Amino acid sequence: MTSYPRVGIGSDVHPVEPGRECWMAGLRWDGVDGCAGHSDGDVAAHALCDALLSAAGIGDLGAVFGTGEERWSGAHGVDLLAEVRRRVEAAGFVVGNATVQVIGNAPRIGSRRRQAEEALSAAVGGPVSVSGTTTDGLGLTGRGEGVAAIANVLIMPNQAERS
Ligand code: MG
Repeated sequence: MTSYPRVGIGSDVHPVEPGRECWMAGLRWDGVDGCAGHSDGDVAAHALCDALLSAAGIGDLGAVFGTGEERWSGAHGVDLLAEVRRRVEAAGFVVGNATVQVIGNAPRIGSRRRQAEEALSAAVGGPVSVSGTTTDGLGLTGRGEGVAAIANVLIMPNQAERS
């Protein structure tokens, strides 16, 4: 067990699927095409999961949930985050803070930033900052073919457990 904070990084990209319900940053977005995927396609939550797992040094999303596992079919991002949080805490850490940036044309994260931050913070057990950006029409996100996300987290050893 380390006695110092640890950082982690995670990213994710999913294709946009016309007509699919959109779940992003822990929220449902009406009138926006969602992302395809085995789960709900919430790339922000998935990037956060990978950042948390990498910070704790306990694998990655694919290793934990497995794309073939029926149990996680259609799973919501916040439910995946809750399971990841459980594992991170079991490894002796608490979340210091986390950030996640969603890269794409839609949904417009800024319009519901507070709500998204509340949903993700509750799932992670620490403050999560959420931001959104576009690529000015460039690349797969700029053409609206997909949505990407990048996340950073800082976790700390659980002092209560150490004393
Ligand atoms: Mg994913």
